[in-house]
Amino acid sequence: MAWRHFGLAVLLLFVLTATSLAAERLDGVPIVRRVDLDLVPPASEQRFWLKAGSTAAGQPYLVPVIVMRGAEDGPRLWLSAAVHGDELNGVRVVQRLFERLDPKTLRGTVIGLPVVNLPGVERHSRFFPLADDGGSLVDLNRVWPGAEGGADAARRFAHDVWTGVAERQVDLAIDLHTQTRGAVFPLFVFADFRDPLAERLARALGADMIKDDRGISGSLETAFMAVGVPAVTLEIGGPKRFDHDLIERTLEGLEALMIEQTMLAGMAPIPPEPFIGREEATLRAVTGGFAEILVDLGEDVVAGQMVARQVDLFGDPIATYTAPVAGRVLSIATDPLREPGAMLVRILRAEVD
Ligand SMILES: [Zn+2]
Repeated sequence: MAWRHFGLAVLLLFVLTATSLAAERLDGVPIVRRVDLDLVPPASEQRFWLKAGSTAAGQPYLVPVIVMRGAEDGPRLWLSAAVHGDELNGVRVVQRLFERLDPKTLRGTVIGLPVVNLPGVERHSRFFPLADDGGSLVDLNRVWPGAEGGADAARRFAHDVWTGVAERQVDLAIDLHTQTRGAVFPLFVFADFRDPLAERLARALGADMIKDDRGISGSLETAFMAVGVPAVTLEIGGPKRFDHDLIERTLEGLEALMIEQTMLAGMAPIPPEPFIGREEATLRAVTGGFAEILVDLGEDVVAGQMVARQVDLFGDPIATYTAPVAGRVLSIATDPLREPGAMLVRILRAEVD
């Protein structure tokens, strides 16, 4: 009896230590500058508002962070969504994954950021808006890991998120995206196969297509890889909607990945073999005009096959487009309005042995 009381007291002390350092709260959720995973008690879930950056008027952004620590220590898995503010399927994936997980049966820790780019989400925008320069736009997925006292508010915001939760606290990372507005992807992974663990993560997710890709400077994936954390970028369809089928497939893929990483018990289904490529070919509009896309996502095309055409305001044909290489359709324009240079069809090239 006494021991049980002692145990409860220790647990209470743990909970108090983890949260009482943050004096401020919003709707009962502590507001912190740093989420210290070691202070989250085993077999529990905690929510935080992470103070990051500042608006031009001087108010901090409060980024939602959910941490679930399992009963047993194990890998620490990072899941972020909406680094691009119009890419919303990942938001629901992160939220629903925490509903499905149980800290009592979890091994390791899951760190979820359902919405990173708060100001972008509120403006229906891919970008992080600045008040500077008469209102300019920054691609937040080109500035990681940010910079203390960096050149603009976006870099400082990224720095606060990175140092506040990511830095030295993550073993595996998945950054959830979708195609940008006016276009769509299948369930598709960018991964750098030079890191065998990144390749394993990519394959475990059960995606339709994978691009073995060296990453982009300033992306969250590349920032994690640069500090030795295997990371992939997972693209979940198109922007500005909840695609329930793809959200469900992503949740199943994440659970399979967590089984593979022994964070969850059970048997992961063997995922269907994805289409893997290293090079893509993008067909871009040579002129402004309305586009008709003649192929579907995931369709195999041969070199020379007509894949799109454009008509002018009167409906007269003005351009046709043929596949320059054989491969599988990775992305198509969903918005017919295409200005010169806009993407029409992207093909992931078939590997030639
Ligand atoms: Zn994106």
